[in-house]
Amino acid sequence: MTHAVKYHPGIPLLEQYVEGTLEADVALAVSAHIDLCPHCQQLCLDLSAEQGLMLEKSAPAAELDATDLDQMLADIMAQPQWNGRELNTQPQGPVQVQLKDKTFTVPRALARLVEQQTKWTQLGSIANAKLPAGDKRHVSLLYIDKDTAIPQHTHKGLEITLVLSGRIVDEKGSYGVGDILINTPDDTHTPRTLPDEDCLCLSVLSAPLQFNKGITRLLNPLQHLFY
Ligand SMILES: [Zn+2]
Repeated sequence: MTHAVKYHPGIPLLEQYVEGTLEADVALAVSAHIDLCPHCQQLCLDLSAEQGLMLEKSAPAAELDATDLDQMLADIMAQPQWNGRELNTQPQGPVQVQLKDKTFTVPRALARLVEQQTKWTQLGSIANAKLPAGDKRHVSLLYIDKDTAIPQHTHKGLEITLVLSGRIVDEKGSYGVGDILINTPDDTHTPRTLPDEDCLCLSVLSAPLQFNKGITRLLNPLQHLFY
């Protein structure tokens, strides 16, 4: 049974994604979400068609006739992927990530990165594999074992978390596969996994996490694990 995605990137981010104006590492998270979310797949198709129409309106009337418009829309709708520039080099089919005795399937959008590197660094019940994507931000796979809480933290920058397997719960909600959490410096939260289910996420961070409670000496290694 597929889990219904509840938390989406929202129209402004999808618009920028379709326009190709989103920064690469944010686009990566959005793209991976779209792979998991039929709702946003449809929105992207609609937005692409709308942008085609807007191009048509802004072009000199003499240069485009109805046939051109039909062709333009046909071209857009025929695009096999949402962002050809980024995704054409991706391998086809599901891609798997290994961590100890566990195997996770990750979205196609992450395939190329995951195949380049999944070297895990483990700290207690949390493990992190940095992906060679970082443009301005740190992109990593984050594994959290069952029944584990990440100490309460705020964000000095943008934190995007996309759930790839399992579930995360924080003060504001419960997030399953495909759900995307976007936290800004205004947000404080304490994410945790369920008592009986571990979790794999994609994490995109523009600045280190700022832990609010606990002993700095103990939390420092954790901070380095994430960023
Ligand atoms: Zn969505």
